[in-house]
This record gives sequence, structure tokens and C-alpha cells, in this order.
Amino acid sequence: MDYITLAEAYEKIEATSKRLEMTDLLAELFGQTPKEEMELVVYLTLGRVAPDFKGIELGLAEKLALKAIYEGTRVDESQIREWWIKEGDLGTVAFEAVGQKKQTSLFTESLSVGIVFNSLLDIASASGSGSQELKMKLFAKLLHDSSPVEAKYIARSMAGKLRLGIADMTLVDALAIAFAKKENRDEVEKAYNTCSDMGKVARLLAEKGLTGLEEVKLEVGVPLRAMLCERLPSIPEIIEKLGGKCAFEYKYDGLRIQAHIKEGQIELFTRQLENVTVQFPDLVKMLAAAFKGKEAVVEGECVPVDINTGEMLPFQTVSHRRGRKYELTSAVTEFPVMLFLFDCLYQDGEDLTHTSYPNRREKLTGCIQETEHVKVSEYLITDDDVEAELFFNRAIERGGEGVIAKSIGEDSFYRAGSRGWQWIKFKRDYKSEMTDTVDLVVVGGFAGRGRRAGAYGALLMASYNKEDDKFETVTKLGSGFDDEMLAALPDLLDEHKLEKMHKRVNSQMMPDYWFAPEVVLEVKGAEITLSPIHTCGFSLIRKNAGLAIRFPRYTGKLRKDKRPEDATSTEEMLDMYNMQLKKLE
Ligand code: ATP
Repeated sequence: MDYITLAEAYEKIEATSKRLEMTDLLAELFGQTPKEEMELVVYLTLGRVAPDFKGIELGLAEKLALKAIYEGTRVDESQIREWWIKEGDLGTVAFEAVGQKKQTSLFTESLSVGIVFNSLLDIASASGSGSQELKMKLFAKLLHDSSPVEAKYIARSMAGKLRLGIADMTLVDALAIAFAKKENRDEVEKAYNTCSDMGKVARLLAEKGLTGLEEVKLEVGVPLRAMLCERLPSIPEIIEKLGGKCAFEYKYDGLRIQAHIKEGQIELFTRQLENVTVQFPDLVKMLAAAFKGKEAVVEGECVPVDINTGEMLPFQTVSHRRGRKYELTSAVTEFPVMLFLFDCLYQDGEDLTHTSYPNRREKLTGCIQETEHVKVSEYLITDDDVEAELFFNRAIERGGEGVIAKSIGEDSFYRAGSRGWQWIKFKRDYKSEMTDTVDLVVVGGFAGRGRRAGAYGALLMASYNKEDDKFETVTKLGSGFDDEMLAALPDLLDEHKLEKMHKRVNSQMMPDYWFAPEVVLEVKGAEITLSPIHTCGFSLIRKNAGLAIRFPRYTGKLRKDKRPEDATSTEEMLDMYNMQLKKLE
């Protein structure tokens, strides 16, 4: 097939913004495409040379791209630069330049889809020394052989911005129209969601029609598109929607990870199907230690934790890892992660996506032996609103974002790539913030880990209950200490060290060291929550729960001017908690 047929179809597609028109134009194009070239045409139409999860990216630095346009056309370089400054689109620059092309050699080759695809693939795959020069030459050669319209789309493909505005689902519709009946489009979508490879789906359809899609199977190493959730505003509504009884799980706030495990090899994919195995060598190790089966595809949420307090940290902490291929060792120690697994999609040759959620969960717990770093998500099956609300509160206290309710019915299949009422999320849709700092008393200490080995890793902090004359724990403080302060802590605290808990301290937590309540530090937290472990205002707001400060940070202020009895009181903590609630009403 000539590349010009493709380029002309793209011109028409670009000219319309109507999805139906676009679909028909695509279906027409696919109808004209020889079977053997179907896969290439679909990748090119998506502006790619391979499915997303292969990670083969096009792209060339601006300077080199402009140089290639010059090499391929011999149009004055200053003119090329002028177009570039004016248009900012490599496609338009290539179109103009090729239109004024000076003949640079006698031989031009007419461009076929195969030639363009293979050249783009070579460009995307080139690496190592001399690769930039090679990419530039290959691109220049394509431009040399192309007409203006062809040059426009080749250059845009090169830049990784085809700008046709075609959504994946428009391609699915067009493929269904071209090769199956329109009413079978869901079959096409299902195949795509399973293999995440539109080119493959198109090839199978073109070669064998709808029956070809039976060949699309879940494969270890090929990510599935993630199942998504709906949302509802209250727990009773959620339970009702899910048939009166359902599973609730903590909603962890991290990075969704689909792990493919086979013969000791582990590959990790994100929700965008990006392969992040290289960025998370620690996760690979942790999973290898916890996994007890032969092969599987499991899904979970990767959450950053503070190694010294054990607290789950905001997701942004882990986003440092994305795209960062260097300094991995420091990223791994600075931002350690945990993995909370919540699904098992495949195990030992069996595709589990067509089985119920309770069955998949059973398979998951069967192949994972929990470790310090790898856990199976917290889980509760209930038909009771109150029990579910308590579970939700616990999720928040433990650093979760809320809960995800999941259907446990016979038909609670894993629906790859679709958003449905099988999973319903319930988050706190408010942001409560602690505006004021508090002054807390150090009553305990935890031995440091990682960079803090041999020093204090975190401190157990308390508020002062005037009525009982007791120091009640309210948080584990590990952030905000600079190296200087860390080094100074033993001098500051060791003179107050005790063998056991001080009699004026009320704690359920067991730190590694106890201190007499003497030292007061200023702390800023994100919010006050209820907690089953901390003793501040215990059972005053809710039975068997105290108040806790989430995401505490030492502000750097040592309150030498304050006696422990002048520290923030439990009463003040209760007031602050109630004020927070009022703000939310
Ligand atoms: P959406 O996924 O609905 O498009 P979003 O990206 O904002 O929106 P969230 O609101 O964060 O997603 O909720 C869904 C995400 O929650 C999932 O994609 C998954 O990454 C995460 N998650 C955390 N815990 C769980 C769990 N126990 N089960 C399923 N997903 C979970």
C-alpha cells in the first residue's frame, strides 16, 4: 500500500471534528488496506510503531529534526527555522519545505507503508553512540522521498504528535464496522482491553474476522487495561447498588501496579501500561519474596511509606521515581514503598478474569505469603452500613484515601478497561487541614532504619491532659529533622531516658525507648483523625478511639521556652478536631 493513500486519509480525518465522520473515514481506510499491512496501518494511525506497553517511543530533538528537514530538502536553513518559529509544528514545516524541495539526487523512491513504518521503527529503536545522527539521516531520507502531504504526517509521527485526535474507542468502532458487524463492537473492545494491542486486534480481524479474536488471550508479560470504578456519595447507597452485601477494601493512595510473574521473572506495569520494572527494583524483590506460586498476574497499589514511622505517605512521594532511571539506589532508600495487592487475574495457566471476585481474592491469598512490605489489601464483607462506616474510618486512620466497594456476585468478573458498577469508590471528598502548629512532648523513641540506622528514627509525641495530669500519645514523628537536628537528638533526649514508661505517660504503643516527658517540639500536621492506637482524648469522641495527627513534621522549633505542662493540651486537640469537622459541614 502506498503511504500517500494513508496520508490523504489523514488529511480528511484531520479536517473533521465529528466522531462519526472520523469513524467512517477510518473504516473506509481499513477496508482498502491489504490484510498483511493492517497492523502497520493501525500503529501508524495511532502515531506509534508498537503497542504502548512495549515502550518504543518516537521522538527527535528539535534541533536534529530541523537539520533533517534541511538535509532532506536543501531548503535554506534560516527559512526552515522561520517556519518553525511561526508554526511550532514539525509537520507544517516539513510540508512547506518539501513543497520547495531542491532536487538533491536523481533517485527518489516512492514511499510505501512498509518503508515508512520500518524507517520509523529503526529511528525509534536506534540507541547508543551515533544513534542521533542515524535517526536524523533516516528521517532526512524519508523526507527526500516524500510529497508535501506525506512529509507532513511523517514529520508529525517523528515528533510523536500525529494530531489526528482519534480516540482508542473510535478505532474500535471503525474496526468493528470494517470487519465485523457494528453490533459486535463490544467483542472488539474486549479483545483490545485484554491484549492492549490495537494492531494485533486489527490484524486478527482482517485475517479471520470476528472468530480471529478468539485467539486473544491473557498472556503473562502483556498488560491488560485496568478495570475502573464508579462512585456514589454514601455507603448505604453503595451497599444497595451492590445487591445488599459486598466487599469493602481500603483504598490505598499510590501507584497502581500490574505485576506479571513467570519463571522467576517479574515485570511491572502502570495503569497507563508503562513498563516500570526498571524504576522499582525494590518492588520486584519484595514481590519475588512474597510470591509462592509459579506464574501469575496480580494487581495492587504501590504506596510510599516512612520507614521510621511506618506511616503511609502521600502519593507524590513515589512519583519521584517515575521517569527517573538514574540515582535509583537513592530513590529506593529515600522513598521506600509497600505493595498492597487486591486482585489476581491469572494463575498457573488459568485466566481468572471470568471468575468472581471472591474466587480471585482466594487465589491471591493462596499465592501470596504476606511480608513486611507486601500485603493483601484489608478486606471486609458486610451488609451492614455501620460496620462499613467503621471500616471506612479505619481506612482513613491508617492513611488510606477511603474505601473501594466491590461486588461479590457470581458475575463479579474483572472487566478490563471498563468503568462499571462492579467497583465503587468512596473517598472523603473534602480536604481538612490543620492550620495551626502544635507543641508536643517527646515520650518515646524508635530505633532508626535506613539512613537513620544507629540514631533515632522517629519519636512518640504526646499532648498534655490537664485533668488527669497525663501525657497522651498523639503521633509518631519522623519527618522534618535535618541532619544536624538528628545528630543533636541523643544529647537532647538521652538524659531523660527511662527503663519503662513514665507514670505520667499514657501509651498503648511500645516504643524502643521511653523518655520522661520533658522535651517539647513544635509540630505541623496535615489533619487530625481518629485512631485506635493513640490515647489522646481516648473514647471521648468515639469509643475505643483517640485522636491522632496525620503526616506530622517537625517545624525545626525546639520549644525550650515551654514546660511539658505548657504543651498543647488534649482539650485543645479535641477543639481542633471539632473545628475541623465544622469546616466540613
Ligand atoms: P479513576 O480510576 O476512577 O479514573 P482516579 O485515577 O482518580 O480515577 P481513583 O479515584 O484514585 O482513581 O480510584 C481508583 C484507583 O484506586 C485505582 O485505579 C487503584 O489505583 C486505586 N486503588 C487503591 N486501593 C484499591 C483497591 N483496594 N482496589 C482497587 N483499586 C484500588
